[in-house]
Parts: sequence; C-alpha cells; structure tokens
Amino acid sequence: MFVDVAFPISSYRVFTYRVPRALEQNILIGVRVRAPLGRRQAQGIVVAKHKKPHFTGRIKPLTSLVDEFPVLDEYLWKLLLWMSDYYLTPLGQVARAIIPTRLSTRYRPPTRLMVRSNEMADRMPELVAKAPAQARVLRYLAQRKEAIPVAKLKDLVASPPVVCKKLAAKGLVTLEVVEQLPDATGFTFQPVTKEVHFSEDQRAVLKQLEQGIELGNFQSYLLHGVTGSGKTEIYIEAARKCLKIGRRVILLLPEIALTPQIAGRFRAVFKDRVALWHSRLPHNVRAWTWKRICAGDFDVVIGARSAIFCPVNKLGLIVLDEEQEQTYKQESPEPRYHAREVALMRGKLHRAVVVLSSATPSLESYYNHIQSKYVYLRLPERFGGAKYPHVHLVNMVQEQEETGKVDQLISGLLQDKIAQRLECNEQVILLHNRRGFAPVYYCTQCGEMVMCPHCRVTLTYHRVGPALRCHFCGYVRPELPLDCGHCGSPHLRLRGTGTQKVEDHIQATFPQARLARLDLDTTRSTRVLTRRLERFGRGEIDILVGTQMLAKGLDFDNATLVGIVNGDTGLFLPDFRAGERVFQLIYQAAGRSGRRRKRGEVVIQTYNPDDPVIKHAAHLDLKTFYNILLSERRELNYPPFSWMVKLEFSGKKRALVAEVAEAVGGGLKGRYRGLEIVGPAFCYREKLRDRYRLQMLFKSSKEKDPNGTRLHRFLHQNFVASRNIPRSGVRLNIDVNPVSLL
Ligand code: ADP
Ligand code: ZN
Ligand code: ZN
Repeated sequence: MFVDVAFPISSYRVFTYRVPRALEQNILIGVRVRAPLGRRQAQGIVVAKHKKPHFTGRIKPLTSLVDEFPVLDEYLWKLLLWMSDYYLTPLGQVARAIIPTRLSTRYRPPTRLMVRSNEMADRMPELVAKAPAQARVLRYLAQRKEAIPVAKLKDLVASPPVVCKKLAAKGLVTLEVVEQLPDATGFTFQPVTKEVHFSEDQRAVLKQLEQGIELGNFQSYLLHGVTGSGKTEIYIEAARKCLKIGRRVILLLPEIALTPQIAGRFRAVFKDRVALWHSRLPHNVRAWTWKRICAGDFDVVIGARSAIFCPVNKLGLIVLDEEQEQTYKQESPEPRYHAREVALMRGKLHRAVVVLSSATPSLESYYNHIQSKYVYLRLPERFGGAKYPHVHLVNMVQEQEETGKVDQLISGLLQDKIAQRLECNEQVILLHNRRGFAPVYYCTQCGEMVMCPHCRVTLTYHRVGPALRCHFCGYVRPELPLDCGHCGSPHLRLRGTGTQKVEDHIQATFPQARLARLDLDTTRSTRVLTRRLERFGRGEIDILVGTQMLAKGLDFDNATLVGIVNGDTGLFLPDFRAGERVFQLIYQAAGRSGRRRKRGEVVIQTYNPDDPVIKHAAHLDLKTFYNILLSERRELNYPPFSWMVKLEFSGKKRALVAEVAEAVGGGLKGRYRGLEIVGPAFCYREKLRDRYRLQMLFKSSKEKDPNGTRLHRFLHQNFVASRNIPRSGVRLNIDVNPVSLL
C-alpha cells in the first residue's frame, strides 16, 4: 500500500510513501504520520491511498503513525480541501492551521490511584501482629471516610501501592483509578444570570432566526443591531433553540478579551455544556477539550478565530460577533483565512445557520445585504430604552490655539467631563489606540529616530520592563540610549502618546481616582484581564484606560463617559479600509457609554474635525457614511466591487526581492479584461522581521467576474499549476481577500 502525504511546507507537492505492513490497518485518509522529508523527519497528513505508486523509483517507507484515528471528521476534511483551493494554499499548511499544534488523539488525562477503607475490620489485631504496615495504612484510612490518593501514604509505609493492593485483596480497602481532568471549560469567570424579557424588535429577529434554525438548511443572516440592543441575548436564545432540535453551536468572538463577559452569560444558561476555545489554552487543556468536543460533551463552543475549526458535530448554528473585526483574519502563518468566509463555508457543509452580527458591519457584509445575499435582521434601538450617547467633538487645533499648549493630551472639555462623572460616582472609559508610553524616541539635533534593527519602524518607549520595544517583532532594548546613534548628540526626547502616558497624565490630574489600564501589555494573562474587568464591573475602578480592546462588546452598567483621546489614529494610513476602520472604532467605543438608564456621553478629540470619517462617526450616522464609502469603492474598483488578491514577496535582500517580484509579475499569463494589476511595489511597512516586503494587487471587477472564478483560475494557473514559486531567498505569500495592505 502507498499513501500521498501533505506537509506544512510552501510547496503544493504531495509526497508518496510506502506503508509498512504493521501500519496498513490503521492508515486512513486524514491521519497524521511521520515520514522522512529530505534529511529530516516531518509530520504530515495522509491525503490519498493507492494500491500502486503512480511513479517508479525508490519510495521510502513511512516512519510512524501520529494518530489513532483521523483528526478531522468528514466536514472538516471537506473544509480543509475547500480552504486549500480557495486560499491557494498547500494542503499541509491548511491542515496545520486547522489541527491545533501538539494535538494528540492519544491524549489521556493523567490518572491517580485512590484508596478508601471498606469498613472497620475486626481483623485488625491479626494484622497488627502479622503485617504492621498494612495495619498502619488501614488505621489511617479508617479515620477518614473519603478516598485519598495512594501516593499520599508514602510517609506511612515504604511502598503504598503494594500495601494497598494486599489490603484490597483481603477486601479491606477499595482501590480506584481516577482521571485527573483538566478544566476543559477553561472558565476564569463567574456565570452571570439575568432575567430576560424580549422586546418586540428582539422577538421579531428571534422569530426569523428560529425559523431558519428549524428548517435545517444553510442560511446566512446579517444581524445589524446598534450597540446595546441585546445581540448577546439573541445569541443565547437562538442557541437554546438550536439545542432543542439536537444541534450544536459555535460562537466566535473577535478577541478573548471579550469572552469573560459573554461566556459568563452563556454559562449561566447552558452550565457545563459550554466550552471555551482559543489559542491561549494550555496544551493539555486543549487536547482534552478537543477530545470532549469530538465526543459531543459540549453543546456550545465559544472562542476566537480558530474555534471555527472545532470538531463540533451536528453543528446547527454559527454566530460571528462583531463580524467586521480584523482579528478574524489570520495574517500568518498561511493560510491567510478569514473566519467569516470559513464560517459561511462550514455552514454550507453542515446545513447550518450562520449569523454575522455587528453594530458596524464590514462594508463587504453590508453590501452583501444590499445585494440580498444575507437575510437582514435589524435591531435599531438600545434595549430598555437606553438612549444613544451625546457625542462631543473637540477640535484639538483650536484647543491648542486657545490654551497655547502644544501636544495637549486631554482637552479642557474632556477633563471637565471626567471630573463631573467622578463626582457622581460614575465610571469613565478612555480609549487610546496605541500601547506603551511614547511611540517615538528621537534626536532633537538631527531628527534621527531610534528604530528597530529588524523592522523599519520606530521603537516604542515603555515605562516598565525593557525601555524600548518593537511592536512588530518583539525586539527589546533594555535601556534608553543616552546619545544619538547618528550624530552623537545627547539631546534625545520622547514624542507621541501611548496608553501608559495617558494613564500617568490622568492619574496626576485626578489623584483620587482609581485607575486601571487594559491593553496587550497588561493582559498577557486572561486571568489578569478577567479580574480587571470584574473589578471595573463592581465599581472598584473609576477610570479604565486602554486600547481598542475596550471598544468592543463590553457591557458595564455604570460607565457613562467614553473619551477617545486621539480619534485620528489610523486615519491616514495608506490602506483603502483606513476610514472604515476609524469609523467603526469610534462608533463601537461610543457604544460602551450609557448602556442603561443614565444617558451617556462621548468625547472625541481630533485634529481633523472636518474629515468625513470623523464627522459621520461623531453623528453615529452609519448609513450616510457607508453610502459614501460604497460610492468611493465603486469608483476605484475596490472591494466589495471587485475581488482582490494580494501577493506578498519577502526576503532578506532588498534588491533580490524586487527583482523576483518584477520577474514574476512580468511572466503572468492569461490576463483578461476586468483584471487590474497594481505593483509590485514596496509595502508601507517595507521591512518587518528582517524581511523586505513587496506587494502586488490583483483586482477583478465583479461585473466581469461575478463569482471571482476568473481571478481564481488565473492565479491557480500562474502559481499553483505551474508551481511558479520564486527561487530561494524570496518567499511568496498569497492573500485572498486581504484585509490589510500595509
Ligand atoms: P449588544 O451585544 O447588542 O451590545 P447586549 O446583548 O450586551 O447588547 O445587551 C445590552 C444590555 O441589555 C445587556 O446587559 C443585556 O443583558 C441587556 N438586555 C438586552 N436584551 C435584554 C432582554 N430582552 N431582557 C433583559 N435584558 C436585556
Ligand atoms: Zn542626532
Ligand atoms: Zn522589529
């Protein structure tokens, strides 16, 4: 017998191996194996079986089997094949994305041998004389009712297992092997119980969803509900319905920062039938959770992007909360998939209902709704009559002129508002989308900035830990340099603002206020994050300062003021989605304010008050803004009016990367009308992690190519079939439907 094996390498080739007799029985498509690849042993996945090899020559044998049974069920296997094709990515690489690293089907929870005394035996005197060790153990056990680990008896006797087995043989004790289960639910938070009475709008939405779930066919919905309209409650109710008809649910959240609150709600309703799944789970927990999901022990799986690959069977409902979020896109390693696209395909395979949900849908989804591709569900009002917040736009240019202060962090207005809220014992959220203390450290003499040696970006100053850090590659410089590496001048200075600086400034201004910061630096551990959110929820923190993770999905009763320290962050990035993102961030952040009876306020500080993005965001006027965006995109033939694929060339030698990109670009065959090719050109972030980056964009107009099949065929022909992979030293990466062009 022979098998074809795909490896997680950047080649589309599969490799053929002979199957040793001993392994023949267990070789199935979809099991992982180890086999020689070049000079090393590598792990791959079996993609085909043959009686005869389809070529002659020496064929090496497989080394060993990794799995006892295929790790992917039939649906996930189909999904894998689809992803490999759709994302033009070798099968082995897709398999690596779908199957968690270090997943083992052989995983067994560790066990413990427990022992308990049966009843006070009248053979004690006999034992004391003949077997003092047994007597000691028995006396010890008799004093306790419950079973204890055999290993605990080691201070009592030399060899507890031997002694216990002898006692067991006499019927005096009972031995029991107990599995020590990791906490597969992964919960670090409390269940949150609520009494729910649905509003008329909510009932209407639920009715449609429940009908869809009951039909048991694939159907996609766009749930467009303003912030605070009760989308989470809708998910719970829809999940309940789904469970009632014997099917299961996956709920995707853009960030595990959000899981504590939402999962807490789910946990209150579905108890231990809910599992959490995300990339920060320890390996043993992950392996165990995975096995139990396979076994059908969980009805609801909540998780970040990768949870879309959980082996949930009888899947009936997939929900993507905040479907516009960029975190749903995997940027590296390949495949560069989008959980939304994968969810829709998985929904089709399982004949499940897929709900894309947001207060600010991605322009793509919004457009798909206009095109009637999704059933549109609308929740136009906040639940319980909570009002939308008052939004104040502060013109920082004017502020500067009036106060004479340059680079002012907090405007007079925002400061006053904070003071007012603190006075009323209400809470404040301050959003600043940049972590660290200051993003630039530069020389005042020659202007040179301290850069990362591996990336073409400045190093960010942090107040705690290593002083300078690269936010892209993780490079650190423990101390601030004392003089300029360029001109030797000792006059160096920090510039710009990060969350730490905001925190310092606010603490100095409001020394009585209890402050906490929430950004990537403070939330490496989910526990710390959960604690902070809980403390804020209990009112033990007055002001929460943080990055965009604060803008999404959080629900606090008493937070009535949201301040956006710099509304312009990201506005001028050279990416056609920059405006859409800034709008969504501001709109979402505003959504955290005043979610109950008390009316909330939002203060947006900006240096560009007339910019349409800022203006419309300040009016929370989504429809107008989206229409403007749509007409711009149409004019420039950008998605959603075209299909876009990005090729990224990268390598250590700048000239070589450019040369290869030009050569590949020049050699493209089969161009067609409606196809626009832009570049190759160096990326905005030209060098990251020691690699120079060039990109080439392919845009295929939907008028000429309604389903994107022409572009797909074109790329397949040029890059997959012809294996037109550049020579060594330059990596080529294909990004289908890229979300970032930076
Ligand atoms: P969204 O996710 O749309 O921002 P949430 O689901 O967080 O909104 O709802 C906002 C708040 O209103 C939450 O505290 C939620 O529990 C509450 N809520 C929403 N709908 C109901 C309902 N039908 N009955 C009771 N409380 C509700
Ligand atoms: Zn200098
Ligand atoms: Zn770097």
